[in-house]
This record gives sequence, structure tokens and C-alpha cells, in this order.
Amino acid sequence: MIDEGVVKYSCECIPGDKVAVEWIESLMEWRDRIHELGLIGVYENGIGFGNISIRIANSLQFIISGSQTGHLAQLNPDHYTVVTDFNIEHNHLTCCGPIQASSESLTHAAIYSYEPHINAIIHVHHPQLWRKLLNQVPTTSKDVQYGTPQMAKEMLRLFDQENLAEKKILVMAGHEEGFLTFGKDLNEAGEILMKYYHS
Ligand SMILES: [Zn+2]
Repeated sequence: MIDEGVVKYSCECIPGDKVAVEWIESLMEWRDRIHELGLIGVYENGIGFGNISIRIANSLQFIISGSQTGHLAQLNPDHYTVVTDFNIEHNHLTCCGPIQASSESLTHAAIYSYEPHINAIIHVHHPQLWRKLLNQVPTTSKDVQYGTPQMAKEMLRLFDQENLAEKKILVMAGHEEGFLTFGKDLNEAGEILMKYYHS
């Protein structure tokens, strides 16, 4: 692996209040439902996977499930944080809340900043679905890893060159088992996920 030129991820997390529960009721509901299906969870090695976010209306800030929460069946507002600022080129983000945002938040950030109509993003893992969807829906290059500035660029390429805005689902060839759905709101992102899950 050539590691040169890879900008190391950094995150400044400012301890802050949790988000008001009425802001995230639907987010918490969808997250726990998706977790129950095993689409968000934790691998045997203890590494968690999957995350879910919603945009804060008309801004570039968003609320996302916190880092290392994959093992929990149910989250509460202590497990969500607000990404207040980010710099994709520098692989840096700032969050404010009771828990740290994961490096994967930058992928969410890239989509929110590129597509103002998208207000919710769900990132999940599922081995069979991943294999089934690979190259059948917009698919990022296998050379690009999740949570990197390269992934952000690669996704934008899919918006420009493939029908990603219409499909609202993308598979990450270089992030095994990983794919994401999004929508104008959380229900749309969730319904798209469910449609493929039950297909
Ligand atoms: Zn992932």
C-alpha cells in the first residue's frame, strides 16, 4: 500500500449538550430499527459499523450517531453528536456534543455539501446485499476507502457521471460490505434501504 499523500484524519470534538430529543425522534427510531436488522452493528473483532445522520435545516451541519455505538441496541440522545464544521481536503472535522463523531462522518459531510436537497444519509453493512448490489447501482472504485478525502471525490464523480442523485444508493467497492442510501428526508433514505433489503 502506498500511504504517501494520505491526509491523516483528525477530529476536534468539543464537549457539548446533547441534542433535544424532539429533533432526533425519527433518527433514533430508524437507527434502532436498522440495528435490529443487523445493518448497523459490531463485528466479532469489536469494530462497529454503520452510522446515520440528518442535516440541520438549511445548513452544512448535521447530527450523526456517535463513534463506537454499534454494539448498542438502542441509542439515546447521549449517543448523537453535531458535526459543526469540516474540511474534506484536510480530512478534518469538528463536532460538538456528548460523544465523538466517527471518521466516516466526512463521507456524510461530502454529500451534504454537494447536494443541498439531501437531508438524510444512512450508511450500513451487509455482506450479501453488498455483493448483490456491487456494480449494479452506482459503485465507488475499489481503490478508494471509506472516510477518506478520496472517497468524497469519488462520490461526487458518481453524482456527476452516473445516476446517483436518482438512485439514492451507492455501494463502496473498497469498503467491504458497505453501502449507503440517502434522501430528501430520513423516511426516504430509510424506505430506499428497506426496498433493497427486502429485494
Ligand atoms: Zn462502513
